[in-house]
Amino acid sequence: MNAPSVLERVRQHLVQLKLVCSLEVLDDTMSRVEQGQLSVLEAIDVLLSDECANRETRRIKAARMSGRLTQIKTLESFDFSFQPSLDRTRILTLAQLGFIERHQCVHLLGPPGVGKSHLALALGMEAIKAGKTVYYTSLTDLIATLTKAEREDNLVTRVRYFNRAALLIVDEVGYLPISSSGANLFFQLVNSRYEKGAMILTSNRGFKEWGEVFGDNVIAAALLDRLLHHAVVIEIEGNSYRLREHADLVPDSLKGIHRQTEKPAVKRRGRSKKATAAAKGS
Ligand code: ADP
Ligand code: MG
Repeated sequence: MNAPSVLERVRQHLVQLKLVCSLEVLDDTMSRVEQGQLSVLEAIDVLLSDECANRETRRIKAARMSGRLTQIKTLESFDFSFQPSLDRTRILTLAQLGFIERHQCVHLLGPPGVGKSHLALALGMEAIKAGKTVYYTSLTDLIATLTKAEREDNLVTRVRYFNRAALLIVDEVGYLPISSSGANLFFQLVNSRYEKGAMILTSNRGFKEWGEVFGDNVIAAALLDRLLHHAVVIEIEGNSYRLREHADLVPDSLKGIHRQTEKPAVKRRGRSKKATAAAKGS
């Protein structure tokens, strides 16, 4: 039996090492070498680059799926000119991900359709690209998961699971009212992440309304106490991107929502003053 050619041996090695992408471009790359279009070193570079790019794409997809970022939203596809109230530089600074290193909380506030979820997901995508673990959930789904875990005597494990994410995105705070037991569970999660992990929260409701959202002023105050300390608050005051072609059909009374971002008049702990400064200054 004839010994396999060098090319055949390379092919077998690539199969054994599961370097599928390199294998796919091997023949084409080698014929370019034969035609003098590529040096041997350049050919090796092509084979490895394709493999690395493919692995990176697969890694990002797997991280997106396990973090439930099922919709692909990017900063590149966000039209900043549509939202003049939004400071592009602040968003691009957030995309540098320093807030994750500093375990900060970012609040994206504004009426429906202004791009809160889009921006939260796009920042999540930047974090995934940088190798951070991200988890995305709506507040309602998060509370349903925590409630189930508590019922099954599994709450500690579940909270630990969410805390493994360097960035936890909680979307749609305020769309649906939360029961006080749900608010309590959310508080336990927020408290255990406090100063240990970053969060992005999106809401169409002002902080003043959190007592109503969480059905309990005391819990709302305790939540805000943690979530506004070291916080970055970004308010988007603009039109709905969803309604951009049909804005004339929506009555004026429904175009904006009544929002008040000042903090509620409830008793706060000592660090709340710092929270105000952080929220305003960042
Ligand atoms: P919100 O969460 O504030 O209700 P979304 O982020 O879900 O709004 O935005 C609604 C839809 O409009 C999404 O498909 C989103 O990708 C798109 N969108 C919103 N704002 C912009 C924008 N400025 N540029 C591009 N697409 C946008
Ligand atoms: Mg949304």
